Amino acid sequence: MLDVDRLVSYYGPIRALRGVSLRVEPGEAVAVLGPNGAGKSTLLRSISALVKPRHGSISYQGRRISGMKPYEIVRLGVVHVPEGRRIFTQLTVYENLMMGAYSRDGADIRDDFDFVFGLFPDLAEKKRQRGGELSGGQQQMLAIGRALMSRPTLLLLDEPSLGLSPILVEQLGQAIGDIRQRTGMSLLLVEQNAALALEMTTRFYVMQTGQVAISGVSAEVALEDIRHAYLGGPAAPPV
Ligand code: ATP
Repeated sequence: MLDVDRLVSYYGPIRALRGVSLRVEPGEAVAVLGPNGAGKSTLLRSISALVKPRHGSISYQGRRISGMKPYEIVRLGVVHVPEGRRIFTQLTVYENLMMGAYSRDGADIRDDFDFVFGLFPDLAEKKRQRGGELSGGQQQMLAIGRALMSRPTLLLLDEPSLGLSPILVEQLGQAIGDIRQRTGMSLLLVEQNAALALEMTTRFYVMQTGQVAISGVSAEVALEDIRHAYLGGPAAPPV
């Protein structure tokens, strides 16, 4: 479904991706783990065309998407939720969600509001409030809700748990599981919280300095092994 082949991306002289290959099958959830600066966000940005790869190729559902414009990739169903909850703080919750539906025609948008409000009841309660007035966790839900309004077939999710309380992390993990079950959506998840990421996915890749260091089946790997070898040992982020 998603096929990334020997991708190389730069920021000026910095080679952030050094030949990354990975795939996501239809309906599959895949984690990308790794320390700060490993290139995880750059990988997602390259897939959604926010960064233009210098070498390699990306295809989705058999079509080459590397070289397409970001909006063309969204239309194919590949939707990116970047790190840091980039919502429109001056717009209301409702308006933020509408922005996610901009490429769609009206008829079934109502159903999608119901779907998102069902998943994230806090958003339903606050739909007339401005995005900037929400808590960090609610802003994260809103960023994901907005992405869902464009009906992704593949969601690229960058560090959704960052800065959330353990309870919210659990709620978010459940909501994402629900979404996948109800829509069959695939997921490519970048997470520092390795325990959460392995729980939410069937396969994983660990990146290190712009390359894939190891990959495997999430249920078969011991978290401690990954942590010690690749994520900076016991000092890795709490899980
Ligand atoms: P983090 O979890 O800290 O975001 P990451 O694995 O997502 O880490 P990237 O953000 O993809 O890593 O960064 C990969 C490399 O590219 C790092 O060396 C980083 O310093 C560099 N980099 C990232 N963004 C930029 C940018 N906008 N301009 C220049 N260099 C960048």
